[in-house]
Amino acid sequence: MNKVVLPISMEGKTVLVAGAAGFVPSTLCEFYLNLGAHVIGIDNFITGSRSNIDLLSSYKNFEFHQHNIYERLPNFKDQKIDYILSMASPASPIDFAIIPVEIMRVNSEGTLKLLELAKEKNARFLEASTSEVYGDPEIHPQKEDYVGHVNCIGPRSCYDESKRFAEALTMSFHHKYNVDTRIVRIFNTYGPRMRPNDGRVIPNFITQAMKGEDLTVYGDGSQTRSFCFSTDLVQAIHTVLMSNDPTPFNCGNPDEYTVKQTAELIIKILGSTSKIVYLPLPKDDPKRRRPDLGKLQRVSDYAPQVGFEEGIRQTAEYFKSSL
Ligand code: UDP
Repeated sequence: MNKVVLPISMEGKTVLVAGAAGFVPSTLCEFYLNLGAHVIGIDNFITGSRSNIDLLSSYKNFEFHQHNIYERLPNFKDQKIDYILSMASPASPIDFAIIPVEIMRVNSEGTLKLLELAKEKNARFLEASTSEVYGDPEIHPQKEDYVGHVNCIGPRSCYDESKRFAEALTMSFHHKYNVDTRIVRIFNTYGPRMRPNDGRVIPNFITQAMKGEDLTVYGDGSQTRSFCFSTDLVQAIHTVLMSNDPTPFNCGNPDEYTVKQTAELIIKILGSTSKIVYLPLPKDDPKRRRPDLGKLQRVSDYAPQVGFEEGIRQTAEYFKSSL
């Protein structure tokens, strides 16, 4: 099988990133800016950070539009666009409780608008989907052909089901209009530019450990996650974007930890005096999650480069400077 060829430069290419102020999308924007692409960022700052856009604005090849993409897109009338990355959804479980309707709208109406733009511009479209499409998985590790186990009326459903819809819509545009599409299923990711108060486990544990506060483990901490550092994730997404396969690819890091181990490791890595406390487990919290990366690794040499200890140190450094 031919391996994906990664371009050494993206000069002359235009990449549109919806959700550019977010943690992963802003890291991806910087990656493409450094490859010489013209990058158009869009965000409405519902959960994204202005500081991420300020940082990107120091690149002369970056252009930013403040918009809610499910209401309307900026007018790109005569502008050539080569790649459209659909990354605008809030993705933390605390967002699911506060802005569920906005999440459903951005992944349905917002994705529709981006796909229509891709059709009009003849651009390649990438949907940033999620391991959440597998719900609370009954098979382990998760392969792309597993159809999932999602509670369609549970507290996570606004995200899980709207991302499943976004994948279905993407495939429908591919089949009906021959739009050149890609889908990535992103597993748990962490790194600099994440909101310290994002509510997800790594920023919670790092900020708690840095302040000497108790680390809040939900349930008995036996549930597992596999954490990928952001620059590794960007490499995986870029590889899928440059592939020629429209079907979904898992993207992440297969190193799996229980949540209790994660807390213990973070206390150790940061030399913290914090203790662990146990709080109730949220409803529908997935028990085990680990990506099977076989499909991605059959078409590329992708392998995560940043280990957990190094990644936690870099993330803690970032939080120190932004707290
Ligand atoms: N979690 C925890 N303490 C926290 C935040 C999260 O024990 O302060 C747990 C959560 O219940 C889940 C895992 O850590 O089992 C990962 O949660 P996160 O919100 O980061 O992402 P998820 O994978 O659930 O979308």
